[in-house]
Amino acid sequence: MGNDRMGMNILYAISMVYAGVSAAGLLNRGLGTPYTYLFIVAAVVLCAAYLSLNKIVLVHTIIAAAIINLFIQLSGGSHSPLFFAYFVLFLVIGFRDSARNYWIVSLSLAGVELASGLISRSFTLLPLVLLVAAAFVIGYVFDGIREREGRLARVLLRYEKRDQFLAPADYESDRVRTAVGEIDRHKAIERPLLYFVKFLHDMYEAHSTVIFGCSEETLVLVQGFSHSELFLPQAVIEMRSGLYRQVTTERRSLLIKEYSQDPDQLGYYRGPVQVSSVMIAPVVLIDEVVGVLVVDRKTGSFEEREKTIFDEAAKTAGFLLAMLRLYEKARYEVQHLSSIAELAEKLHKRLDLKEILSDAITAFKNFMCCDDVSIAQVDEVNNFGEVIVSTYIKEHTTFSLSDGLVGFVARHRNSIIKDDLNKGNLVVFRKDIKTPNASFVGVPIQQDDELLGVVWLEDHQCRRYDEDDVRILSILSFQLSLAWQRAILYDKVKELSIRDGLTDLYNHRHFQEILEAQISKVEELVLILIDIDHFKRINDTYGHQAGDKVLKFLGRLMSQIGIAARYGGEEFAVIMPGCSLKKAMDRAVRMKDQLLKSEVSFNRGKIKFTVSIGIAHFPNDAKTRVDLIERADRALYAAKEQGRDRIIIAQTMDGQ
Ligand code: GH3
Ligand code: MG
Ligand code: MG
Repeated sequence: MGNDRMGMNILYAISMVYAGVSAAGLLNRGLGTPYTYLFIVAAVVLCAAYLSLNKIVLVHTIIAAAIINLFIQLSGGSHSPLFFAYFVLFLVIGFRDSARNYWIVSLSLAGVELASGLISRSFTLLPLVLLVAAAFVIGYVFDGIREREGRLARVLLRYEKRDQFLAPADYESDRVRTAVGEIDRHKAIERPLLYFVKFLHDMYEAHSTVIFGCSEETLVLVQGFSHSELFLPQAVIEMRSGLYRQVTTERRSLLIKEYSQDPDQLGYYRGPVQVSSVMIAPVVLIDEVVGVLVVDRKTGSFEEREKTIFDEAAKTAGFLLAMLRLYEKARYEVQHLSSIAELAEKLHKRLDLKEILSDAITAFKNFMCCDDVSIAQVDEVNNFGEVIVSTYIKEHTTFSLSDGLVGFVARHRNSIIKDDLNKGNLVVFRKDIKTPNASFVGVPIQQDDELLGVVWLEDHQCRRYDEDDVRILSILSFQLSLAWQRAILYDKVKELSIRDGLTDLYNHRHFQEILEAQISKVEELVLILIDIDHFKRINDTYGHQAGDKVLKFLGRLMSQIGIAARYGGEEFAVIMPGCSLKKAMDRAVRMKDQLLKSEVSFNRGKIKFTVSIGIAHFPNDAKTRVDLIERADRALYAAKEQGRDRIIIAQTMDGQ
C-alpha cells in the first residue's frame, strides 16, 4: 500500500513537470491534432473498465498518463523529443506500481500512441518498437525479482506469525492459576484469550475487563485488563454470595447502570476504586458454568444495547475457556507420557531393587497428585504383604492380604479408587495403622501371571483420583514391574555366578574376592584349607556320585564354621574373620571330631573318610592374600606328608 502511494506521488510529480513542459510547447505550437481527443476517449474507457475492478492505483495511473499524453500530443506527438521521456515515465511507474498494472498501462498507451501515429501518418515504427520492447524486458526482470522477494517475505511473515502463536519450545512458561487448577500454563494458549479480553476492554472503553474461571466454589482470575493500579491480576475469590453467585446460579447476565456497592466486592481490586457501572455475565459451556465475564467503567454507564453484545461475548469466552481446559489437559497427558518414558529409561538403567523402588517413589510423587505413595511386595501363597518403601509407613511393616484395600488389590489383581476413606472407616492395609489421608488409588504390580506387589497413592483431599489416574498409574506400575523383575533375575544370576553348583558354597573366584575384602577390613582372620584324604579311592570304590555326596556333606559342615568355599576339586577353604588362631583351632578340631563320628550313606554302603587341614593366621603368618593362601597350603601339604587325617598350623612349621 505504501509503495502504491509513493508510486502515485512520483507519477503526479512527473505529470506536473510534463504538464508544465507540454504547456510551454502548446503555447509555442498551438493546439494539436483531433486525434488527441480520440486518445482521451480511449483512456476514459479504460479508466471506467478498471474502476469496476476497484484498481484505484491503475485508474490514477491512466488518468495521469492520459493528461501527460494529451500534453505530449498537443506539444507535437511522437515526433517530439518529449516522446522518449514519456517511456521513461512508464518505466518509473513499472518499478513503483504492481507489474500487472504496468503491463496494462504500457500496452494501452503504446496502442493509442501507435494508432495516433498511424492516423497522423507521422509515425516512425522502429524507435517505438524498441522502446516498448526495452520497457517490457525491464518490467519482466523487475517482476521476477519482486516476485521472489515477495515470496521470501511471505514465508518469513508466516514463520514469524506462527512463532508468535505457537511459541518455540523454550518459550517462557508461567506458573499461573487457571480454571483447571494450578499448573504450568503455556503462554501460547493464553494469547487468544488475552486478545479477546483486550478487544472487549477496548470496545467497551472499560476501566477493567476480567474473565474468572470457576473451580467449584472458587473464582480464579484467568485473564484481565485494567487501567487501575489497584488491579489484582492473580485474584482468587470465594463465591459464597454476592453478584457472582447470583449470576452463576441464575445463569443470567447482569447490567448495573449505576453501581453503588463496594467495588471490593468485584474481587479484583485491592483498594478503593471508583466504579460507576458494571456488567457481569456467566460463562456457560454446554451445561456447565465455567466462569464469569466482568466489565466495569469508572465514569458513565453501560447501556442495554451493549449488554446484548456482552452476552454473545460471554458465549465466546466459554469456548475459549473450554479450549484452554482442553489444551491444559492435553499438556497434562503429554507431560505424563514423557514422564513415563523418562521413568522407564531411568528404571531400566538400574539393577538394584532398592534404587529402582526409590526412583519409582520419586516419580510417582512428582507425576501423580498425591501426598503419600507406598509400595508393598506381596506373598500370595502365605497371604501376606510387606511395605518395602513408603512416604509414611515404616519399611518392613507386614500385613495380611485379607484386610484392607491393598490386600483387596492384591487378591483381585485389580485397581481400586476410594474418594473418601473416612466414610465407612476404610482400612488401607492394616486395621491398627490409621492413614492421615482421604483419597486412595491402588494398582497391582504384576508381570505376566506373577504378582510382585501393589503400589498405592493417597491424598489429603477427597475425590482426588479418577480412571485417568488409574490408567497412568498402571502404565507406571508396569514399567516398575519390568525393572523389578529384571532386578530379581539379576540377583539370581549374580548369585549363580559366585556359587559352586555342586556344594552351593562360594566358588574359587569369589573366595579370592572375599578373602581380599576381609583382609582389608578386619584386624585378624584365620584361613583353613581342607583336603579329603584319598578321595580318589572313594570315587574308585563307590563311584563318582558317591564322591559328590561326600563333597556336599563336607560342604555343609564347612559352612557351619565360617565363610566356606570350594577351593578346588575336593579341597575346601574356610575364612574365619575376626577370629583368633586358638578359636579357629578349636572349631577345626570340633569339626574333625564330628567328621570322625559321621558317615555318608550311599546305596552300596556307608562311607567314612578323613580330612587333612592346614591353618594360617592373618596377620601373624602372612600380610597378603597370596601369602596367606600359600602358608595355609603349605601347612595342608605338611599334614598330608605327615600321614594325613591331621591339622597343621602354619606357625608350627616356621623354621622348617
Ligand atoms: P590325597 O589324600 O593326596 O588328597 O589323595 P586324593 O585322592 O584325595 O587326591 P587327588 O588329588 O589325587 O585326587 C582328587 C580326586 O578328586 C581326583 C578327582 O577325580 C576327584 N574329584 C575332583 N572333583 C570331583 C568332583 O566334583 N566329584 C567327584 N566325585 N570327584 C572329584
Ligand atoms: Mg585329597
Ligand atoms: Mg586334592
